[in-house]
Amino acid sequence: MPNFFTNLDIIPQDPIFALNKEFLLDNRIEKINLGIGVITNDLGNIYQFQSLQNFSTTTNNHYLPIEGDESFKDNFEKIFLDFAEKEKIVSIQTVGGTQANFLAGKLFSQIGYDTIYFPNYTWSNHLGIFEEAGLKIKQFDYYNANQATLSENFFTELKSLPDKSLISLDACGQNPTGVDLDEKRIDELCKITKEKQFLFFLDAAYIGLCNPKIENDLLLAKKIYQTGLPFAIAFSLSKNMSLYGHRLGILSFLNIANEKEKIATNLEKIMRTTVSNSPRYPSDLALKVLQDSKIRQNWLTELQQIRQSLINIRQTLVQKLNKKNIHIFDEIKNQTGLFSLLNKIDTEKMKKDFSIYLPSSGRINISGIKQNNVDKVVEALSQCIIN
Ligand code: PLP
Repeated sequence: MPNFFTNLDIIPQDPIFALNKEFLLDNRIEKINLGIGVITNDLGNIYQFQSLQNFSTTTNNHYLPIEGDESFKDNFEKIFLDFAEKEKIVSIQTVGGTQANFLAGKLFSQIGYDTIYFPNYTWSNHLGIFEEAGLKIKQFDYYNANQATLSENFFTELKSLPDKSLISLDACGQNPTGVDLDEKRIDELCKITKEKQFLFFLDAAYIGLCNPKIENDLLLAKKIYQTGLPFAIAFSLSKNMSLYGHRLGILSFLNIANEKEKIATNLEKIMRTTVSNSPRYPSDLALKVLQDSKIRQNWLTELQQIRQSLINIRQTLVQKLNKKNIHIFDEIKNQTGLFSLLNKIDTEKMKKDFSIYLPSSGRINISGIKQNNVDKVVEALSQCIIN
């Protein structure tokens, strides 16, 4: 028998999904999952939005248009891109935030980019997605791992990049560090962006889950829009509508008034030749939430509660660590969103001795820590610090 597959290598499993499998197989009842980025309830199950319950599922089985559901996109833009003029936006509905990233990468490659610059710590899948889309990845200094804060070299590095470079940041709740830019720094970034004519790609998977006020989750996007330069933003509705397995995202290009048709049709071509069109169920559901002001308000209130509980648990965790005289994780309380990056933690020991799962990078999902398990997490962390 011929072997047709000799030139294939075995590729290591995705670390986050592999860890999740391991977690599910662990039969210790007190186990805690601080790995995969999902929002959970006090029992550790996926959080279900009350405001999204009780909707009958769609009875329409027809394909969605390649570009997605127009009403869903319109309503979404009105709420989340309210700072932008409609004529300057073009959006396509996608299969989660991941596909929004991939479509953006493909389009950047088609317009002649061969390199994209990401922060030195970024969502691990960014590297794979953009390589798959045909781009080389370079990284700039963003995070100072010793201090768990923004790197002091960030702006100098940006200034040293070639003009018109393609730069990526998360819109808010930077994965995996939780380190975002405050307004003053956003202004500085926008000044450099204007001078250097950067093309920005923002990844927005955590809108509604970061700052006390939701509008601040979109401040970076708004200010980049105000530079007048074209940019792209990839939204995921996995976390903020709990639609993980249903797969809903949106990719928007802004400030592109004269190029709308070119961008739209090229994105549609990539869509058509890869997954053809998005699933109908999640955008039907999201549309029901977005277009009904009462349901929308309930959803926004729930989001606000989740956001506040993430902020609270960050503070509780640090206070309790401080009581044990541990101060190396103090920055957790100043960070935002779902994640913080804990270096100097023996993650194998956390798993083996305490049944607490987090990837070897030390990224913790803050939402996995609850008032009812925080003492256990604090005790485990205190015993797993690598000196
Ligand atoms: N972008 C970032 C920064 C993420 O953290 C994630 C999910 O973890 C995604 C995109 C992808 O989201 P989705 O699950 O909707 O594909």
